[in-house]
Amino acid sequence: MRSDSEHAASKDAGPDVSAILLDGRRIAAGIRDQVKFRALKLRERDLTPKCAVVLIEGDEPGRLYAEQIAKSALPLGLDVEIRSLPPAATTDDVVRAVAAVVDDTSIQALMVQRPLPSGLDAERIAEEIDPRKDVDGAHPYNQGLLMAGETFFAPATAAAVMELLRQPGVPTLDGARAVVLGRSAVVGRPVALMLVAANATVTICHSRTKNLAEVAREGEILVAAVGHPKFVTANQVRQGATVIDVGTNYVDGRFVGDVDFEPVSKVAGLITPVPGGVGPVTTAVLLRSIVEAAERSR
Ligand code: NAP
Repeated sequence: MRSDSEHAASKDAGPDVSAILLDGRRIAAGIRDQVKFRALKLRERDLTPKCAVVLIEGDEPGRLYAEQIAKSALPLGLDVEIRSLPPAATTDDVVRAVAAVVDDTSIQALMVQRPLPSGLDAERIAEEIDPRKDVDGAHPYNQGLLMAGETFFAPATAAAVMELLRQPGVPTLDGARAVVLGRSAVVGRPVALMLVAANATVTICHSRTKNLAEVAREGEILVAAVGHPKFVTANQVRQGATVIDVGTNYVDGRFVGDVDFEPVSKVAGLITPVPGGVGPVTTAVLLRSIVEAAERSR
């Protein structure tokens, strides 16, 4: 499968493959260009957008993601500082680290890397975040707005899914049947709420869903966020569906999605690859939220 140089969605030339590839890297590059411009405008007003990422050591994918954010931020004129806590950090330790960022007026944005280690009180930690700095949409206020069909800051991954679904060439969400596999607070639920707000008709599937393949096949849009490699097989996909693969599963030293890409791409109309789909767009959307937090702080 290849991608076209002009469009984010590009038709593959291969004989067996029918799906159009939604190229997350190209979409992310476009978002980063806008972020760079907006950051430049802020620096002209003596404001450098700054974000702190609170990271509990021991979560390798989490560390890689935080480092990726910091690395991508630098050339755009954004300052991202990783504040690491030891693996044995308690809820109080994390709350203190969050409070220090909230009180620091030179930092406009804050993200606590998720998932948090089990044993930590994720709700208490999220409540400590100032909703105005909450660029990953973790605070109950920002979650509540999604319930009301509005967005201030949404979880970056969910926002990235919507960004992909709003690309030129992607069939309209208005009135579409959408099926979301997964109901986590970080991905599945916010995606479902944002799809409803965009006038899709949404079904959420989870580990207790009966006849999941049958339900999934109803989706003109299918979003996979279950965390199992190659979970979505071709018989779960409606002909011509738009398939968004959120899965980031580390298998044998490489990332694979929740979708069995090759067979599914013969049934789907559009599909995101892993890597190169939701992941880069998530990072770019987070950077955009950092610049937004800085703009709103003035
Ligand atoms: P999670 O918290 O583990 O949630 C997984 C969801 O999938 C749960 O709702 C679970 O159902 C459901 N599920 C699990 N096994 C199932 C099965 N056999 N049948 C049906 N449903 C099943 O995971 P998450 O944080 O949402 O992440 C999901 C995936 O996205 C992971 O691969 C993660 O690495 C990836 N991710 C990617 C990004 C990115 O930027 N690309 C960001 C975040 C996460 P129950 O609720 O019933 O348990």
